[in-house]
Amino acid sequence: MMIPVRCFTCGKVVGEYWDEYERRTEEEGEPAAAVLDDLGVERACCRRMLVSHKDLVDIVSPYQ
Ligand SMILES: [Zn+2]
Repeated sequence: MMIPVRCFTCGKVVGEYWDEYERRTEEEGEPAAAVLDDLGVERACCRRMLVSHKDLVDIVSPYQ
């Protein structure tokens, strides 16, 4: 599915970081921790939102 807009635990907006996080980790091969530090995502609850996310919307959408 798509990245949730806000952190489930604290409510910080994390959806805006997804595109840059994905690009830098997948295409440029940067470590996830370094990218999250650079983006200013400090709390563990917010970091897990990005680290544990898998974008499945393009795979699942034809079956809805
Ligand atoms: Zn949070």
